[in-house]
Amino acid sequence: MSHLSSDPIFPICDLFSSIQGEGTWSGRPMVFLRFWGCPLSCSWCDEPLHKDPNARIEMSIGDILKKIQQSTPHIPTVLLTGGEPLAVKELPQLISSLKKTGKWLAMESSGIGYDIPDGLDWLTISPKKTVAKDKMLRADELKFIVGPHPSDEQKADINHWAANHPNVWLQPVGDGDIPNPQATKTALELVMASQGRLRLSTQIHKYLKIP
Ligand code: SF4
Repeated sequence: MSHLSSDPIFPICDLFSSIQGEGTWSGRPMVFLRFWGCPLSCSWCDEPLHKDPNARIEMSIGDILKKIQQSTPHIPTVLLTGGEPLAVKELPQLISSLKKTGKWLAMESSGIGYDIPDGLDWLTISPKKTVAKDKMLRADELKFIVGPHPSDEQKADINHWAANHPNVWLQPVGDGDIPNPQATKTALELVMASQGRLRLSTQIHKYLKIP
C-alpha cells in the first residue's frame, strides 16, 4: 500500500474491540488500538505482541479510520494503548482525525515519550519509572503495577500520589493469565490501609478469558 509523504505511518500491532478490563472504565466496550513498540522493557510486560517484529503493521490515519469504521462502527470509544503510543511523534495528527469522527478517545501510557497531546477525553498514566509531575497531574487516572514485594521507593511514590491525585489504582502484576497471588495480597494490603484513597484494579478480561 502506498502513502503520500504527508500522510504519517503508525506502527500498529492490533486493532480489536472488547470491554475495558482495568481501572475506572472496567466493563465499558472499547476499540483497542495497540501501538507496536515501547521504549521500556518491563520484565512483567503482558503485551508481547508489541515486541514481535512479525506483528508490526504500518497503517496510515486513513487505514486506521477505515478499519475502525468497517469493523466497529457501533462502538463510540477508542483506547490508544501499546506498546507506547506516546513514543510516536505524529500521535497528535491521529488524535485530531479520530476526534473529528466523534469518538470518545482515551489513551493509556507509561508517560515516557513525547508531551501529552491535546484532544484526549481520558488519560491513564501507568508509571514504570519516574514520570514528570505535570504528566502525572494531567492524567485522569494513575495506575501502578505492584509486584509481590514493592520497593520502599515505589511505596513512597504510591503514597505520595494517593495523597495528591483523586484517582489512583493498584494493579497486581500478572503471573501468566492470572494476577500473582503475593502481588495481589500486597496490593490489597496497601489499598485497605489507604483510607479509601487507593483502588484495586483486577484485569477482569483475564478472568473472563477475552481479549
Ligand atoms: S511500559 Fe507497558 S508496554 Fe512498555 S514494556 Fe512496560 S509493560 Fe510493556
